Amino acid sequence: MEIAKQYDPKQAEQHHYERWERNGFFAPEINKDPGAPVFSIVIPPPNVTGSLHMGHALQHTIMDVMTRHKRMCGYRTLWLPGMDHAGISTQLMVSRALKREGKTRHDLGREKFVERVWQWKRESGGQITVQMRREGASVDWSRDKFTMDEDLSRVVREVFVRLYDEGWIYRGNRIVNWCPQDQTVLSDLEVEKQPQAGKLYYLQYPIKNSDERVTVATTRPETMLGDTAVAVNPKDDRYRELLGQTIMLPLTGREIPIIADEYVDPEFGTGAVKITPAHDPNDYEMGLRHNLPQVIVIDSHAKMTAGAGADFLGLDRYKARDKVVDDFAALGLLDKVVDYDFSISKCERCKTVIEPLISTQWFMKMDQLRDLALDLMSREDKPRFVPETPYKKVYTDWLENLRDWTISRQLWWGHQIPAWYTPSGETIVARSEEEAREKAGTSELTQDPDVLDTWFSSALWPFSTLGWPADTDDLRTFYPTSVLVTARDIIFLWVSRMVMMGMKFIGKEPFQDVFITGTILDAQGQRMSKTKMNGVDPVDVFDKFGVDATRLTLAQVGSTDIRWNEKQVESYRNFANKIWNAARFCLLNSEGAEVKPEILEQSAALPDRWIVSRLNKTARDLNAAINAYEFHGAVQTLYHFFWDDFCDWYIELAKADVTAEEPSAARTEARTRLLTVLEQALRLLHPFMPYITEELWQRLPGDKRLHPAYQGAEPTVMLAAYPEGAASLIDEAAESEMQAIIELVSRVRNIRSEMNIKPAERIPIVVGSPDENLRRIFSAARDQVSRLVRASKISVLERLEAPKASARAVLTGGGAEVAVPLEGLIDFEQERRRLQREQEKLQAEAAKLEAQLSNPNFVSRAPAERVNEVRERIAAIAQQSSQLQQTVENLQ
Ligand SMILES: [Zn+2]
Repeated sequence: MEIAKQYDPKQAEQHHYERWERNGFFAPEINKDPGAPVFSIVIPPPNVTGSLHMGHALQHTIMDVMTRHKRMCGYRTLWLPGMDHAGISTQLMVSRALKREGKTRHDLGREKFVERVWQWKRESGGQITVQMRREGASVDWSRDKFTMDEDLSRVVREVFVRLYDEGWIYRGNRIVNWCPQDQTVLSDLEVEKQPQAGKLYYLQYPIKNSDERVTVATTRPETMLGDTAVAVNPKDDRYRELLGQTIMLPLTGREIPIIADEYVDPEFGTGAVKITPAHDPNDYEMGLRHNLPQVIVIDSHAKMTAGAGADFLGLDRYKARDKVVDDFAALGLLDKVVDYDFSISKCERCKTVIEPLISTQWFMKMDQLRDLALDLMSREDKPRFVPETPYKKVYTDWLENLRDWTISRQLWWGHQIPAWYTPSGETIVARSEEEAREKAGTSELTQDPDVLDTWFSSALWPFSTLGWPADTDDLRTFYPTSVLVTARDIIFLWVSRMVMMGMKFIGKEPFQDVFITGTILDAQGQRMSKTKMNGVDPVDVFDKFGVDATRLTLAQVGSTDIRWNEKQVESYRNFANKIWNAARFCLLNSEGAEVKPEILEQSAALPDRWIVSRLNKTARDLNAAINAYEFHGAVQTLYHFFWDDFCDWYIELAKADVTAEEPSAARTEARTRLLTVLEQALRLLHPFMPYITEELWQRLPGDKRLHPAYQGAEPTVMLAAYPEGAASLIDEAAESEMQAIIELVSRVRNIRSEMNIKPAERIPIVVGSPDENLRRIFSAARDQVSRLVRASKISVLERLEAPKASARAVLTGGGAEVAVPLEGLIDFEQERRRLQREQEKLQAEAAKLEAQLSNPNFVSRAPAERVNEVRERIAAIAQQSSQLQQTVENLQ
């Protein structure tokens, strides 16, 4: 048997994926069982501009673990991949490339520009699909989708037309969030609020026919040029007299009313507020309630318009602010300016301060759609969020406060709105220009230049990818999907909208469960971000430690937030090496033996019954953990089984039989059992560590059956049955007996190391236990225990009888005690001195730490974590020291 000494992840990563994909293992059609249960996931489509980051790697790992697990359980499995056209990001990227050629998109014109984007997509888009192959993601590439593909675009138009016909999509004038830099409207979710240290300006407005003035407070004095009222709270006694009077608005010569509205907060500023309906969302609403005119004073480039007056026309909004303040001061109308902290709205992408503007946009009415989602939750408790807290509440709270969705964007890259205008100004909404001409009775049509928000097509993803509106096999088979795996920051942008659209158009929820992953933070606990340059590139981690080790690290993140720690990946790389070395040992000692599942059901010696029991219990625990989305627990279970139970105990116990020089029935049986247990362990590991398991599984000789659903497929661990764990093979008695032996061996090994007994030295052991059963177990295991601890003699007695100079230990539960007589094994005097020195070293360290703790400067200034570390270390030293003391006493 040829097998390399060292595991080489790169070599395994290179050829297995290609073979899996070529053989169609990822496609649901590989499953030939017509009655197979179904498992499906649609991938959250990454941006076509994107490359793999830790968030993707985490989500993909979890989706792949679930998909591979279900596939091995015999499910007809589909994990559907695809990409999002990412409207603004992609348009910006191509615009930047044009800029380097000294051109703008306007030089090219819309058609050429869009063609250029497609060219970019063909040449450099979708880098992430290459990286996903490296990850081992078992997605069905034959069903790969792109949101701008013709079939998906057709779905977008279909949905738009249907919603428009029902009156759920409309075009209107509304105040919107406008980015003066990107020249487009933004949805509320694309705007980020940031704290800002600014100023609050107190401006005095003269009352007509009076010497009195009303003082209003504002953070944006330049908008006063567009004021059309001053408002006070009707319950505010200070202003009761003023209601019904008017104000001569400075700098404009306009006369504006003083009105009462309950939304005015009497506590803010002076309790009187200026109202600018055209440039503030709250004022806009108030303006509608009171029929106030909308005076537009700022344009889409954030410059002042003619409406602001000749003195201001063309000024930038911040220049205009300074001028308004100067003019008020000159007129003696500037009351005061104070420092003021408030939150400012910025464009999520370019960080330009957004300008609320009134503009004509397309909107989607959300009230009825929202009710579809809320009803689904209240009636059927769907979708099920994992973890339920806090996400279920976050989701429903948001739905309850939903406003209409601005769906048009002033971009060229995206789904152009399927609305056409006739020369007489009529609006025709249709599935195609041809249909629009028919409806309009004219071919003189102009299509609306805007495109739809990228999230419009994403909201349709779970059914647009499965062939809707046609009644396809895929739609009937895979919708609703089983689970959505995503990050918490797109619950609103994406998850809720998919639920609403799925309910509206299919009448069923798009997914049963929503698993929200945790977030991987950098080592300092900060979010990884491109701008902060603190991200870790998953591909670098793959190169350094291998994909399997990285996947194991990511899988155990599950739904918690963690700080990235390379040591963790390193430890799983060591685990991969451990697997390799264990398998190598089994294979190098496999002559005459092969994998034979029946052997695990035959009666056998205690260690054999024990490992079979552990194997089956592990399988049961794993299935339960994966089905419950408890990935952290699943990884721990696997790790513990393979490293501790299988490698450290079972292989050690079986070694003598397996490596016997002479061929014998006993040797063959031992080898067969070892290979068979290993084969099942590799299957259990496979969803988490696909590469190393395939690499090793392929080398195992013997009866390696595929799951019956995959009859006739090429051999691969991917399609072998996931062990379920047979209740009949779980042997609690064997487990507790082995546990006692493991304890005994561990205690004696501890004693050997504490007492500095030479590794080659054989030692006598005395075990005392009043428990007859335990005595029987220890007596029966004499040979094995002797080998594991290098014992010269093992006495098992009812009561511990050992010389005074013995090292002793009590086994957990107190059922037995063990002693190692030390006479003749060690030089007592020398050992006492060594222990004494160790004791002194510990005491010195403790004294130093105590001094640190009694220093008030340290305690008050050091980070709490560091202070805790010191306290914990002192406690650990105290314990170590008392153990040493005990040992020294035993040497008297
Ligand atoms: Zn912007």
